[in-house]
Amino acid sequence: MLTVKEAESIILDLVQPLDSQRDVETIDLLAASGRILAATVTSSLDFPHWDNSAMDGYAVRFADVENCSVNQPVILEIVEEIPAGYQPQRTIQSAQAARILTGAVMPAGADTVVMQEETRREGSQVSILVSPSQPEAFVRHRGAFYEAGMPLLKAGSVLNPPEIAVLAAAQCIQVPVYRRLRVAILSTGDELVSPEQPLQPGQLVDSNQYALAALIAQAGAVPIRLGIIPDDREALKDAIASAISTADIVLSTGGVSVGDYDYVEEIITSLGGEIHIRAVKIKPGKPLTVATFKREGENLHTRQCLYFGLPGNPVSSLVTFWRFVQPAMRKLSGFKQEAWGPFFVQARSRIDLRSDGKRETYLWGQLYLVNGFYEFEPASGSQSSGNLINLVNTTGLAVMPVAQTWIQVGELVQVLTVNP
Ligand code: AMP
Ligand code: MG
Repeated sequence: MLTVKEAESIILDLVQPLDSQRDVETIDLLAASGRILAATVTSSLDFPHWDNSAMDGYAVRFADVENCSVNQPVILEIVEEIPAGYQPQRTIQSAQAARILTGAVMPAGADTVVMQEETRREGSQVSILVSPSQPEAFVRHRGAFYEAGMPLLKAGSVLNPPEIAVLAAAQCIQVPVYRRLRVAILSTGDELVSPEQPLQPGQLVDSNQYALAALIAQAGAVPIRLGIIPDDREALKDAIASAISTADIVLSTGGVSVGDYDYVEEIITSLGGEIHIRAVKIKPGKPLTVATFKREGENLHTRQCLYFGLPGNPVSSLVTFWRFVQPAMRKLSGFKQEAWGPFFVQARSRIDLRSDGKRETYLWGQLYLVNGFYEFEPASGSQSSGNLINLVNTTGLAVMPVAQTWIQVGELVQVLTVNP
């Protein structure tokens, strides 16, 4: 059986990121929050756009004021007032100054700003009481923050509020972003009913469909809910066939263990899929199927569909999504490699953690940040893969490596962060 690491690297190797030409849409900057930039953006503007003042004060020639002091102030003639947004009209000559406000354009001839607090104004004249520390003091130079023509934002950047602000400042109001992934979800099992249906004895509500739809939406992709498919060969084959023809990724849950009704693997093969993973040494989540389907066709963007047959147990399907599906989705979506995850932190365990040591074991619970250090507390109650109830408030999954059966209270443990 594959280790978690082996499975992870097989999965990531299978993923071919979206195409930076075909899988791109241009959208309004106001709608771009959370999307991934598909092309590197450069600007023809320098930042700052002009030499400008960092202070309210007076624009002067350094040579005029370099030797002044409170006892020997230099008196300059004010020839212009320059508020922000105004284009200076005068060139500052020796013994002259311009009144200037923060962000306003430096006038020609001046090279230094003296802050208002170090001056005294008398009518059309200003006394400079303190000599500036150096020439160019309080001048922000054109291009000091960014030079026109350089990469401003790289392809693969996530457009969070700072990136949105930068694009707005660069007047880039239509942005090329990768299209959203389409992820089909189907639940298999004769025992399943949807939440609005009355529950008969022996039945169970299909919570996985809802959990996965929420995870997919949270990841910025479009969930395509294909509903509950009975444990019937033909019905399942039809559902998977239609899913792989429209989605980038298909997630099925249930039917991947070795029970009598477990058809998924057989159907994948009959539909021309190639199976890469059948089981992983992980708890919960051992019966994990990963397959790819090659595709042809005009209206299909990606060349293949990635198929994950997740275990049916509600906790197992979430854990395997966080551990394996989410990084694959991030790679496919166009994220930079450093953003694929999964992301782990080191935390001190608040209680003893136990495992049988046979598989890499993920214990769910809460991460706390205490005086700058993480602490982990597993959810109380049964850590059973069928116990969905104590999964609420989960923010971390503590990882117990194979062969490790005990992590003592106070010891450090790696914790996979989820729902940050
Ligand atoms: P399976 O992998 O089909 O053998 O299912 C394992 C367990 O998970 C069984 O107890 C199922 O009833 C349960 N299960 C399967 N699918 C779902 C689902 N969509 N929502 C909630 N529980 C499920
Ligand atoms: Mg089943």
